[in-house]
Amino acid sequence: MKLEGKVALITGGTKGIGLGIAVEFAREGASVVIGGRNPQTGQEGLQELEALGARALYVPCDVGDLESLQNIVDKTVEAFGKLDIYVSNAGINDSQKTPYLDITPEQYDRIMDVNLRGMFFGDQYAARQMVKQGTGGAIINMSSVNAYLALNSQMVYTTSKGGVQQLTKVQAVDLAPYGIKVNAMAPGPIETDLMRRVGSDRQLMDTILSRTPMGRIGTTRECGRLAVFLACDDSDFIMGQSIFNDGGRGFQAFPNPGYKTITDQEYDLLRSIQEGR
Ligand code: NAP
Repeated sequence: MKLEGKVALITGGTKGIGLGIAVEFAREGASVVIGGRNPQTGQEGLQELEALGARALYVPCDVGDLESLQNIVDKTVEAFGKLDIYVSNAGINDSQKTPYLDITPEQYDRIMDVNLRGMFFGDQYAARQMVKQGTGGAIINMSSVNAYLALNSQMVYTTSKGGVQQLTKVQAVDLAPYGIKVNAMAPGPIETDLMRRVGSDRQLMDTILSRTPMGRIGTTRECGRLAVFLACDDSDFIMGQSIFNDGGRGFQAFPNPGYKTITDQEYDLLRSIQEGR
């Protein structure tokens, strides 16, 4: 097992990509702490981890609140004695497609406080703990293919993810002397609630998939396996990178010539998950 004896903390680890990462970490032998605001989702995530036989803990956490972020780091150390791996995953998007000229400071702050400020300081609290321990560590930031694509319909989200890419590089340089490895993962469309909110429109899903050479959305398990690689010593000479696990979406210039349309089966699956069927 690649993470035996390690302690990992995943913000937004109660569902979606974060839970996918927590599950794969647990399968690789790590003790895992998951954070999120909704206690019910937190308990459901915890049960999934415990069913795997993992040493796991749910701690309520809002990454928009710096005290709450410090608290989850402290609770992790209290419960498991240390912190080796920190995944800054919690992130939100705006389901309204507000044009740039109409975006308000409140809309901007709501997304930036979670996606970038919460990451900046959450990573800092985790890194301080790792430095105190003196045994190095790994930090993984959740970026997005939108760090690269100029998606003007999601302007604040896209701006926040661009920031994540640069933050990851400067942190990696700053923390390398302490043996702390910082990298980011930048998924394309992944089958989660966040994606379902964005992609509930069939025409938009079609547009996305027609520009994804692999012609499908990715899975939370695939994200989890990449996170295991970035957390374990297989990636020890890699730092400051954003790994685009996006099925090629980031660099496909024109619609895939072989692509026809989203199949009825794929669309029904998306709708049924979205409607909780
Ligand atoms: P999701 O299914 O909506 O899950 C989001 C997770 O973050 C939940 O656990 C949620 O729990 C938590 N969260 C949200 N706001 C929070 C806050 N203020 N404080 C603490 N936790 C918070 O989203 P996802 O698709 O898994 O996205 C996870 C990350 O991947 C995000 O950073 C997103 O930008 C990125 N990403 C996703 C995709 C995609 O296609 N899905 C693609 C690229 C990048 P609570 O609501 O209970 O707090």
